[in-house]
Amino acid sequence: MPQFSGLMLDESSRSKRPYKWQRVLLKVSGEALAGDHTENIDPKVTMAIAREVASVTKLGVEVAIVVGGGNIFRGASWAGCSGLDRSSADYIGMMATVMNAIFLQATMESIGIPTRVQTAFRISEVAEPYIRRRAIRHLEKGRVVIFAAGTGNPFFTTDTAAALRCAESEFVLNLRYAV
Ligand code: UDP
Repeated sequence: MPQFSGLMLDESSRSKRPYKWQRVLLKVSGEALAGDHTENIDPKVTMAIAREVASVTKLGVEVAIVVGGGNIFRGASWAGCSGLDRSSADYIGMMATVMNAIFLQATMESIGIPTRVQTAFRISEVAEPYIRRRAIRHLEKGRVVIFAAGTGNPFFTTDTAAALRCAESEFVLNLRYAV
């Protein structure tokens, strides 16, 4: 990702200049969120990501994030424990990504970045369902969209979700926080 963090532009200066990368999707793995691993999520990491994303959105670049959940739960590692089948384990893993997404959303909004979370399966009290056209509309309005719950299907990973969302909505994929 180009280093924008030195630029201090306020919201009113959001421009629509024709950057080479106009719509970027950032893959943030769960492990990256864990920072030094003393807790599942390191708030210093979420804030660093939020600040970096803010500096890019203020340039008029549209940013979406696919967030992982490996800092909390990986289905493949737990499948088989106490009779837990792989699909159930993977659904727990997908819910872990929703927890990370809500945390990241709160961090972003705390520094003034309008952010929406869209989930691949419905958890409608806490997030919007994934609707491609709606996600694009959010991006066009300068909102960051966090895609959570992966693909919504067990036996996949959030890397697959990132690739799918990129293909669907013409994002450039950035692995800045993928571990
Ligand atoms: N997962 C899934 N389907 C998906 C995406 C994720 O079943 O489409 C589950 C899977 O159990 C995975 C967990 O969610 O281990 C967390 O996702 P991932 O391992 O991709 O997170 P990351 O490695 O990026 O932290």
